[in-house]
Amino acid sequence: MLSAMDSQMVVIGGGPAGSTVASHASGLDTIIVEEHRSIGSPVQCTGLVHPRVVEMASAQETVVNTITGIKMFFPGGRMLEVPSDEAKARVIDRRRFDELLSDRAVGAGARMLTGHRFEGMARIEGGLKVRLRGPEGERFLTTPLLIGADGYRSGVAREAGLDPCREVVRGIQAELDVRLEDQEKVEVYLGKNVAPGFFAWVLPCGDRTRVGLGVSDGNGTPSGYLKALLRRRGLDGAPRISLNAGAIPIGPPKRTCADNVMAVGDAAAQVKPLSGGGLIIGMSAARIAARTAVEATTAGDLSERSLSSYEDAWRADIGREVERGMLIRKVFVGMTDKKLDAAGRMLDRDDAKEVLATGDIDFPSKLARPLLRTVPSLIKFSPHVIGTLLRREQRI
Ligand SMILES: Cc1cc2nc3c(=O)[nH]c(=O)nc-3n(C[C@H](O)[C@H](O)[C@H](O)COP(=O)(O)OP(=O)(O)OC[C@H]3O[C@@H](n4cnc5c(N)ncnc54)[C@H](O)[C@@H]3O)c2cc1C
Repeated sequence: MLSAMDSQMVVIGGGPAGSTVASHASGLDTIIVEEHRSIGSPVQCTGLVHPRVVEMASAQETVVNTITGIKMFFPGGRMLEVPSDEAKARVIDRRRFDELLSDRAVGAGARMLTGHRFEGMARIEGGLKVRLRGPEGERFLTTPLLIGADGYRSGVAREAGLDPCREVVRGIQAELDVRLEDQEKVEVYLGKNVAPGFFAWVLPCGDRTRVGLGVSDGNGTPSGYLKALLRRRGLDGAPRISLNAGAIPIGPPKRTCADNVMAVGDAAAQVKPLSGGGLIIGMSAARIAARTAVEATTAGDLSERSLSSYEDAWRADIGREVERGMLIRKVFVGMTDKKLDAAGRMLDRDDAKEVLATGDIDFPSKLARPLLRTVPSLIKFSPHVIGTLLRREQRI
């Protein structure tokens, strides 16, 4: 039956997660299906990643800036500046990044079907019959293995009966044709009038600047907040190159695989709950999914039980930091502006800033213990949740 299938693996979504699965599942006959005609647009990303992401993807050519520090603006007006001598993050051109990964997948042998949208699937003997819609109408592909790399609104995950993410943050970002004087620090703004339930950012990218924010569920649309931030930052008159809205899925569902199906990247909410960054986690999980795909195909067993080695491996690897991030997010979301200001006051001292300067954007929970050691009164913001977090951190 397998030999009669159109391919050994069909990947829905030509974003970073989908391309990574395809390029790492060497030897598997793969088709990538992408609804847009070209890869990498529209861009719904700030492109701020730890240098390890650029290295992992060998994507040096997509770097447009390097960030070494942060300026945090608290609701009451306090600004906390944390410089460092290290490259803390790179700013990438996300379109070029996606194109590069996609080219690699094609170079590794994947066939690309752009302009086709996944619409549904049916179970057949030995696998799935996948229904697509393209310029010429309906089209079907048969495969024993379907990868849902189709972003936060994943139709594949829904059709496979996987639960949605636990929370959605709505994001918006404008790219401006303006050069900031300080090219080394990202500005982060906190507060319910700025970005309720999340944060806002102003990111220098050479001759351009990305200004954006996220708003958690139940707080309306983000566009009014963006307008206010641009005004506050004196950037409302700057020429706008683009404006994009997108969603950030927070909190992975209990299951990310089913019989003949694995969900990766935003489709599985593999995103850092505190920052909304999804590239490192999605791409790491995608590599694990590729390994599982090859092993399960070789063994001829694509049942959920067989694919659950993917589930176990990504949760044991990056999933722990995601769960710790969920706990810190719980503390953060529970903080009023008054409490945020109190925390800002406590952190505004040299020893605390020295600890903050050691932070790694991919592992924010690692700051919890040294920060509490330096400023023990921080525990008062949520003794129970912070206690749980520290106990979990100890178990690594
Ligand atoms: C405003 C904002 C800022 C962000 N900033 C950062 C950041 O600075 N750093 C960071 O690491 N992360 C950031 N993220 C998150 C990051 O963009 C995502 O985690 C990442 O894009 C996930 O990659 P993916 O491949 O899983 O999904 P996506 O990049 O969303 O790719 C999914 C692909 O699937 C395609 N698709 C969807 N449905 C279908 C269908 N039915 N049929 C066929 N194709 C389909 C889409 O067109 C898309 O190409 C940000 C997100 C937002 C919204």
